[in-house]
Parts: sequence; structure tokens; C-alpha cells
Amino acid sequence: MNPFPRIPGQRSLHSPGPTRLPDEVLHAMGRQPMDLADPRLDPIITACEAGLKRLLHTEQADVLMYAANGHGAWEAAIVNLLGPGRAALVPGTGHFSESWALQTEALGCKVLRTPWVEGRPIDVQAVEQALRDDIRREIVAVFSVHTDTASGVTSDLQALRAALDASGHPALFVVDVVASLGVVPFDMDALRADVVIGASQKGLMLPPGLGFVAINERARASAEANPMPRFYWDWGRRRDALSYRKFCGTPPMNLLFGMQAALQLIFAEGLDSVFARHRQLAGAVHAAVQGWSEGDALSFFCQEPTRRSFSVTAVAVRQDVDPEALRSVARERFQVALSGGLGPLAGRVFRIGHMGDINAAMVLGALGGVEAALRAQGIPIGQGGVQRAVEFLARG
Ligand SMILES: *Cc1c(COP(=O)(O)O)cnc(C)c1O
Repeated sequence: MNPFPRIPGQRSLHSPGPTRLPDEVLHAMGRQPMDLADPRLDPIITACEAGLKRLLHTEQADVLMYAANGHGAWEAAIVNLLGPGRAALVPGTGHFSESWALQTEALGCKVLRTPWVEGRPIDVQAVEQALRDDIRREIVAVFSVHTDTASGVTSDLQALRAALDASGHPALFVVDVVASLGVVPFDMDALRADVVIGASQKGLMLPPGLGFVAINERARASAEANPMPRFYWDWGRRRDALSYRKFCGTPPMNLLFGMQAALQLIFAEGLDSVFARHRQLAGAVHAAVQGWSEGDALSFFCQEPTRRSFSVTAVAVRQDVDPEALRSVARERFQVALSGGLGPLAGRVFRIGHMGDINAAMVLGALGGVEAALRAQGIPIGQGGVQRAVEFLARG
């Protein structure tokens, strides 16, 4: 017997990555690959690079893409920038900052951390102080996570930039926008970010497997002076016109076909509209969670309303509530796929993704499924969560 019989209708994917793929992306990817000398390939790569630069708001930086997920792009930043005598400062944002820090240490590099306070964004004062305290100038880079997908908290990058400036420390500003790119505005050049890190499967509406970095001249110079051995991730090696060398091997062609299509969708909709749509849909989710939380079993994990992510909402549950059982009911009975808690938040939160190829009706459907699952599990929730989302959207 098939344990997973066909389910009529659509299943709704509300994990904060991977996200739903637009039909245009699916169709663009459903093509045969090319031989490596096919002249059709280079214009596609160029279009992807140009589109990412436009999305990142940079004219100065180079975009380098990898056949890798976000962890691969993290590793690229680590091995190009860090090495003997070169440390990273990692401001605490939760599970993702800590994972990046651990990966850095596993590669033999030194990490300094600022503490993470649950439900709060990056403590910029602690960052400034840590940089001031670094009299020996051991810190080469500040590895900053913009939106921590595990906690649903988005930190203030302008404030972080100001802290770096105020400290007078020359550390490179490295920003992970994996979970926020294509969801909220980002301006690499205005922020004077030296390295930006992204991946395909979140706001970019692509399958996992394509990671990228954008690096400016300062970052490139720092990497060139770094003796840390590296090959696949090496930024210098990827400065090549030949696609086979640029990707250090065969380019992930079908992901590139998809990326070209996804970027076209984003620019055809218009960046302002894309950002406004995400703000609106996040507001609807937040309205529903606000309503549910009046039952005393659920609450926003993010303690500062203005720092709640527009990509993903983490909902904290009371100790007697099992979020994994809730997810299972939501997925199997109501066809809404949610995410659970990561790292220290395992068993303490569930997460609703609301980024990428989605619209109001899809969000309302997902919220309806979650509310039904909450009721089915007998979890006490306030009245009218979904209704608040409807009213929020109706107000426009
Ligand atoms: C998802 C995510 C990553 C890791 O991406 P993978 O593709 O899963 O390796 C890194 N940083 C942030 C902020 C993320 O949300």
C-alpha cells in the first residue's frame, strides 16, 4: 500500500525555504542542459549576475555564484577572509549566527561572539564594544545575519553599519541576506557592505543548490592577502570569463535557467511591489498570530514588533504544547507545511514562512489550515485569528 496516496488539490508549502517555485521557474528549468561551449550559456550567466547586482543594489561589487547551498556561500566567506591571525566577530542572532560561527571554528578560524538574547535583534552596542576592545586588530570581518530564519527576527543593518563606523575599526562588513533578499529592500553600496551572501531557495523562489556572494574591492584585496589554503571557494580563481572556470567546474545550468526566470519575474513585478506585497502578507500573518496569542498558549517569539521578519514568523508555544504534533496535523490533515524550531528552539516554536511566490489568498488559506490544526489539537487560542488577517488585508 502506498503510504502517501495522492492528495487532491494543492499542498501549500509555508516553510521559510525552500519556498514554492513559480510555474515560470519550473518551466525554465525543465530544459535539457547544454554542452559547455554552447554560446547560449554565457548570456544566461551574465543575466543572472546582472540581475543579482540589481537586486543587491550594487554597482561596485562582483557577484560570484556557486553550485552550493547557503552553507557553501558561508564557507566561501570564511576561507577567503579568515586564516592565521584573522578572526571573525559574529553578532548573536540565534541559530543561524551560531551555525556560521561553529562552521568558522571547524575550519580552524577564531571567532568572537556577542551574546544572543532570545527574541531580540543584534545588540549593536555590544558589537561596537567588541570592535573597540580588539586593540590588536585581530577581527577581519563581522559576520552578520540580517534575518535569522530560526527566530524570525530581522536586525537593523544601518544601525550595525553605524556601530562599525563608530568603533573606528576597519573590519569588513559581511552580511548574510539569505532569508531577506527579495523580501525587503537591501542596498549593498549604500550600506557599504563588503561581502553579501545569498542562496537560491528563499525569497528568490528557486530550488536549493545555488549560493552566491557579492564582494567589493576591499573584500577582494583582503582575500588576496590571505594565505589560507583554498581552491573550490577561492574568489581569485572565479574571476574568469570561461564559465567552466568561473564555476570551478560545470555550471549548474538548470538552476541558472531558473534564476534568470525568477529575476525576470521579480523585476517585471517591480521591486517596490515585491517589497510591498511581502510587507502586506507578513502583516496578515502577524494579525492572525496576534489573535491566536490571546489564548495564552502562543506568542510571538520576536519581542520587538518592528523587528518581526517579513519572511517568516516564529510562533512560541507554551511548554505543554507540542509544535511537532501540530505541524504533523497541519501537514497531513490540512495540507499546510510549516517549519519547526531549530537548535535551542526545537520543540519551542513553529514557523510560518511567507516569502516568495505567494499572494493574499494563499496566505489566508495557510492561516486557515494552521488555525484548524490548532483547534484540532485542542490548543487554546484567541477567537478570530484568521478573521483578523482578512480584515488586515481588506484594509489594504
Ligand atoms: C537558510 C539560511 C542559511 C543556510 O542556507 P542553506 O541553503 O540551508 O545552507 C543561511 N543563513 C540564513 C539566514 C538562512 O536563512
